[in-house]
Amino acid sequence: MTTKTPAAEGGAPVRSDFLPFARPCIEAADIDLVVETLRSGWLTVGPKTHDFQRRVAEYVGVESAAALNSCTAGLHLAMVALGIGPGDEVILPTIDFTSGANTVCHLGATPVLVDVDPDTICATRDLLEAAITDRTRLLMPVHFAGRPCDMDGIMDMARARGLKVLGDAAHAIGADIGGRRIGSMADVTSFSFYVTKGITTGEGGAVTSTDPDLTARIALLGLHGMSSDAWKRYSDRGPWYYEVLDAGYKYNMSDMQAALGLSQIDRVDTFRDRRREIADAFTEAFTPNPCVTPPPAYTGGHHAWHLYPIQIDVDALSIDRDQFIKHLLEEGVGVSVHFIPLHYHPYYRKLLGHAPGSFPVAERYFDRAISLPIYPSMTSNDVSDVIEAVDKLTSHYRR
Ligand SMILES: *Cc1c(COP(=O)(O)O)cnc(C)c1O
Repeated sequence: MTTKTPAAEGGAPVRSDFLPFARPCIEAADIDLVVETLRSGWLTVGPKTHDFQRRVAEYVGVESAAALNSCTAGLHLAMVALGIGPGDEVILPTIDFTSGANTVCHLGATPVLVDVDPDTICATRDLLEAAITDRTRLLMPVHFAGRPCDMDGIMDMARARGLKVLGDAAHAIGADIGGRRIGSMADVTSFSFYVTKGITTGEGGAVTSTDPDLTARIALLGLHGMSSDAWKRYSDRGPWYYEVLDAGYKYNMSDMQAALGLSQIDRVDTFRDRRREIADAFTEAFTPNPCVTPPPAYTGGHHAWHLYPIQIDVDALSIDRDQFIKHLLEEGVGVSVHFIPLHYHPYYRKLLGHAPGSFPVAERYFDRAISLPIYPSMTSNDVSDVIEAVDKLTSHYRR
């Protein structure tokens, strides 16, 4: 291990140029297909969006998918379609991005937070089950970092309790459990194609379901509640005709986004496998470091490795996590934290009344967590720089 002086104390930084925390992998084929779409004159929802929906469904292994403008829109519409409303409770982990809990609030329902497993940082069947009340309608597990939750356990428990499961798969395109892809097991699942996620459409998302009628209803709700095939039933009236079947939303994907998605989805497994290589290199390097706990490997299938969150041993170091991050940035390595527990945010603290200490595992994780850069375009030099920067700081600041 190196004992060089950290950049924060006047030493030379590990990198002279800054390594961003995340960067989309955009290649010539992506650009060509988007440009072709621009030239086609059809920019909004149309043939490319329909193709992309088919490709997502095929990839996940379900009959159909609904492409939308975000994962958040998918979470919202899934809950609208399932009839979640005032008085209902939706259970989700406190280590989560805010969009799931926010959409629960939009519907007048109550988000009920649970703690996470200390190894996987996912909600478990038992943690979810312990939070069930007679108002619970829905469970919303998060495949955190791209690691599949225990879907068999969660689905069995939900069935026995008469509850629905909405999977937040924002991190999990490319993940599977023994070949069964995420998105093919929960009642309904929402994926994100935001710029940092497994594949990107710039902004975008898609919903899959084991029930094609539910997917169709979500697609309808995503475009003003307009029945797009109504004109077929009234063909004498012409293609201008449509019927509004519900007070829907304006959440559709555009063909420009779908073009990028069509080109990206061809490489979803390649991207995932490169992320896996980087994760393996990190884990091999950090396992001997007594100040770093790497995320555990997943042996049940494919982990999507959207994130690589390490935990640093703050008790063995003279600096805390926030200072460690500041120093990593000064070494030229972009990092982040996923996530600030929902119950720490002023809005949810006030709404739910949780004091710090309510979810000890999540809180302990949050005090130690640092997400390292992990994306397909990172070179092996980038990977060794990240390792060198972490090792440099842990050896310098070790008590
Ligand atoms: C990114 C993210 C979302 C939101 O995805 P959008 O496509 O930006 O709406 C939801 N949940 C989690 C866990 C995320 O990381």
